[in-house]
Amino acid sequence: MNDSKYIYLDNAATTPMDPRVIEEVRKHLRETYGNPSSLHSVGQKAGQILLKSREMIALLINSKRDDIFFTSSGTEADNIAIFGVASKNKERGNHIITTSIEHHAVENPYKELEKRGFKVTFLSVDKYGLINTEDLENAITKKTILISIMFANNEIGTIEPIKEIGEIAKTHDIIFHTDAVQAFGKIPIDVNEMNIDLLSASAHKLYGPKGVGMLYIRNKGVREGWGKFIEPIMYGGGHERDMRPSTVNVPGIAGFAKAAELAKEEMEEEARRQIKLRDKIIKWVTENIEDSYLNGHPTKRLPNNVNLGFSYVEGESIVLDLDMEGIATSTGSACSSKSLDPSHVLLAIGLKPEEAHGSLRVTVGRFITEDDVNYFLEKLPPIIERLRKISPLKKGVEYVFDKNNNHY
Ligand SMILES: *Cc1c(COP(=O)(O)O)cnc(C)c1O
Repeated sequence: MNDSKYIYLDNAATTPMDPRVIEEVRKHLRETYGNPSSLHSVGQKAGQILLKSREMIALLINSKRDDIFFTSSGTEADNIAIFGVASKNKERGNHIITTSIEHHAVENPYKELEKRGFKVTFLSVDKYGLINTEDLENAITKKTILISIMFANNEIGTIEPIKEIGEIAKTHDIIFHTDAVQAFGKIPIDVNEMNIDLLSASAHKLYGPKGVGMLYIRNKGVREGWGKFIEPIMYGGGHERDMRPSTVNVPGIAGFAKAAELAKEEMEEEARRQIKLRDKIIKWVTENIEDSYLNGHPTKRLPNNVNLGFSYVEGESIVLDLDMEGIATSTGSACSSKSLDPSHVLLAIGLKPEEAHGSLRVTVGRFITEDDVNYFLEKLPPIIERLRKISPLKKGVEYVFDKNNNHY
């Protein structure tokens, strides 16, 4: 396999670093080795890079600079938001509202909170993956302390009505957290206009380094009528103003900031370009391959996300065959793609287990060209045709599923 020829259509799982970001990280790996907590000038220089990075990231979501807290990942940001608000406000209430299609980094913390005595409402979604804001209103009780709803879904790309949700959270004076890992840098986000109190993002989903993330915390975690509404989940040195102690990864953060700056500069043009590629794939496949369909919403979706269903084939087999042709894709989220369970997101939008098993996620990105898309569209049909010939799943046959939703 020639790396330079490999067509990477799995940009929702992670992205290759932009060469301009690599340059930035390399520079700071060499020069900015200080610990920002140190008093000496090497430490202070690192502190200045950290401040500037905070500022650059804040620009992308229209937040105050000091409301940005760096973390080691999107998952860590989600965990700080969720456990931090839950434990700080357990006297106030033990009810939390989220959705049935969250990333595992949100879903699993809530499952853990249920074990610890919290009541969690997992809102269902429609066939496009959209929540119903009336359902949200109806789920709110006097004990509700937190609403977590993802900005955009990592598997099917659906963009939730975040502004309306923020409005509802504000009206009822409830903290609103959104996992914006997939949306950050791809579509406009304004934490003020959208009334977002907590927002998680991650560098490696936007051509930055892995292992760097951030949590936006409105007004540094102080709210009228609540006082401090979040507390740390880790204790140590005073880094990131106690919210995330441990020596900060300054070169990684500088890379994250560079990635955010590039994303901001190029957002409009890139979104337009990627939507064209996205819609070309959707149109071509659904028109030319029999028994194929689109998962997710036709227009309220991320510019880079395509999720296709193919009846009578296993998504895993399609991914492996495409890989042999030098094309990277996915069957769902990277975390679930190694297990045989069908995606909880695809089940939540109403797909049958056998349908969920036949899904293919194709996510374009900054380095994907129209030629790459054409190559993919040339390689895909014979693969589907071959797999359908050898598939045990056939048109017009009913299948039995075991408790793990695997058919036999
Ligand atoms: C990737 C992802 C995460 C996890 O981010 P990491 O930085 O990999 O921990 C969380 N939420 C969503 C929606 C994601 O796509």
